[in-house]
Amino acid sequence: MDQSIGWFYETRAQAVIKALGRNRIQASFARDAAEAAAKTLAMIPQGASVALGGSLTLSETGIMDGLRQAPLNLIDRFAKDLSPEESLSRLRQGLQADFFLAGVNAVTEQGELVFVDASCTRVGPILFGPRKVILVTGCNKIVPNLAYAQERIRHFVAPANAKRLGRKTPCAQTGQCADCDSPDRICNATVVIHKQADAQRLHVVLVGQELGL
Ligand code: SF4
Repeated sequence: MDQSIGWFYETRAQAVIKALGRNRIQASFARDAAEAAAKTLAMIPQGASVALGGSLTLSETGIMDGLRQAPLNLIDRFAKDLSPEESLSRLRQGLQADFFLAGVNAVTEQGELVFVDASCTRVGPILFGPRKVILVTGCNKIVPNLAYAQERIRHFVAPANAKRLGRKTPCAQTGQCADCDSPDRICNATVVIHKQADAQRLHVVLVGQELGL
């Protein structure tokens, strides 16, 4: 990556970290995926129970692999060959986990976190349940404000994710949102975290490279 891009991402990230702090959301910067993985895994004590939200970023950073090798009680809802019943059971167990890890769809310069979700299995535990939530995100998701966040989600995140997940939606065919009524609709809920009541619960790791969707 060109040095100027790294400078740009870090400079924006440091401003966003201050804004998140004003909203009682902890945050830190990692220069790259490897540093993000090391910082994230270091925050989780041995033996803690850890649940997961669907996230390309957790895979791309190597955090998923690290979690699977660490001495933790990983409630791995993405383990191979899970029955639908076991998958649902793990989602429910995850609501009471010590830690919940996920990505973010957009972070505003005012320190707001924006998520889009189909079934709310990601946003549910982010809002309440697990004692600590760590959100890992590339600096490519920093946007000027909530209007830009909505545009990013509607015109990029949702169509690209619908395609990635094989959803039968108009956007997975055309790349454009049709504000559909499809049962496969991927953007059933849009959630904005403006501020936190508990200043110790959320921690955002901003990574100085492009990651995820
Ligand atoms: S509303 Fe439908 S078409 Fe639009 S992004 Fe969401 S899933 Fe795709």
